[in-house]
Amino acid sequence: MTHSIIHTRSVLSTFSEASAPGTVEVIEFCQGDRVKRGVSTALKCLGVTLVCLFIPGAHFILVPLGLLLTPVIVFMVARIPTKILSSNVSCPKCCVPLAILSTKERYPLYENCSTCHREITIVPT
Ligand SMILES: [Zn+2]
Repeated sequence: MTHSIIHTRSVLSTFSEASAPGTVEVIEFCQGDRVKRGVSTALKCLGVTLVCLFIPGAHFILVPLGLLLTPVIVFMVARIPTKILSSNVSCPKCCVPLAILSTKERYPLYENCSTCHREITIVPT
């Protein structure tokens, strides 16, 4: 895969025995974009670590911690193959559009309805 691809996946939101169809827009990162995301994350982490250098006293702990955690965080970010961009999913009980707050595409997704406060399960169809 040479370019990142945006997919629209069909999903089903369910609560108890009620269900409603919907779609989720997902970006599948190519290898080059994964590396770019990793480099961007590394720069952000090292920037925060650099700022910590100027905090008296705390820099003895924060700077080594930042230097140790940066490769771990970069590795975790670069491994993420997909990300949820947007969704068109509604609550099966009250039919209000659901906001999917998670960006990880790991099914089943669990989201709370902002209106009826039920925990809605979202699964691919
Ligand atoms: Zn609801």
